[in-house]
Amino acid sequence: VSKRMFNFCAGPAALPEAVLQKAQAELLDWQGRGLSVMEMSHRSAEFTSVAERAEQDLRDLLSIPSDYRVLFLQGGASQQFAQIPLNLLGEDGSADYIDTGIWSRKAIEEASRYGHINVAASAKEYDYFAIPGQNQWQLSDEAAYVHYTPNETIGGLEFNWIPEVGDKPLVADMSSTILSRPIDVSRFGLIYAGAQKNIGPSGLVVVIVREDLLGKAHSKCPTMLDYRVAADNGSMYNTPPTFAWYLSGLIFQWLKEQGGLEAMERANDAKQRKLYAAIDASELYTNPINVADRSWMNVPFRLADDRLDKPFLAGAEERGLLNLKGHRSVGGMRASIYNAVPEAAVDALVAYMAEFEKQHG
Ligand code: PMP
Repeated sequence: VSKRMFNFCAGPAALPEAVLQKAQAELLDWQGRGLSVMEMSHRSAEFTSVAERAEQDLRDLLSIPSDYRVLFLQGGASQQFAQIPLNLLGEDGSADYIDTGIWSRKAIEEASRYGHINVAASAKEYDYFAIPGQNQWQLSDEAAYVHYTPNETIGGLEFNWIPEVGDKPLVADMSSTILSRPIDVSRFGLIYAGAQKNIGPSGLVVVIVREDLLGKAHSKCPTMLDYRVAADNGSMYNTPPTFAWYLSGLIFQWLKEQGGLEAMERANDAKQRKLYAAIDASELYTNPINVADRSWMNVPFRLADDRLDKPFLAGAEERGLLNLKGHRSVGGMRASIYNAVPEAAVDALVAYMAEFEKQHG
């Protein structure tokens, strides 16, 4: 029997057990070739087939239009905070950013090193508990693009709508929401996501970029960070993170087997409803986020008395419910319920929360 527990980590996050088993089964000998994926040349026919299949499966899952390129890069989502302005701002440009929390602000801080950043709207006026409506946004005419964070992983604040920015490229940090439900990729100029939540293991960041945005990099942009160089070289200008790419490909196959993103949307909706309902019905737990803006993937909650945090976490661990401690910057609890976290995990968490409330409420 498996000793695997329910893992609510925000990232690197739970991976589907079936995928780990498949990787384990072919670890020493990939498809009878007598070597592992980690030991193959990235330019071999074998790895090329792995890489191409992963891209095609991701394209199928997200219905990515043919005028978009899919890049498999390194440096995580954090490197994109610099790579995006280096590629899209031009020599002395400006861009509009929306501030909805910690990750938006990191993106703003980094982009500010490369040009003028206009914070066109901020959730600060709502203590980051709600997303300012588009009628309050002060978009600027000269912005090269508009950047936002569809899901704030730490705050648990998620857009359930796509901003309307006219003909400006819309740039989205989808690190913690990509693949959780269908999205209309054609509404975006560029989408990026660190892999270690819904895509695969860490070490990889996926960038989906409309072709007309390539070839605009700043003259001092490092070659390694120029999207056009990456696109022209099939994300193999240098050695890519081959094992992470392979494992992500297995996740994409698994997602297709589960019924694709419509099925993920149904499952994730059921999970988030159950968890928020349990929080809202209790006297002990609270989630402060405006109901319409609550994250499906990251559910932060507090106990009425911080002194109960430790016993709550200890009891959770005893029951095989791991990594419920909130981000160090905000405290409290956080349950991340990505695609690979089954509804049974949410059921077990909700049952434990009720049991703990009975004892301590
Ligand atoms: N953006 C968001 C929304 C995130 O959740 C994270 C990681 N938790 C990052 C950016 C940074 O990602 P990375 O560690 O891949 O640089």
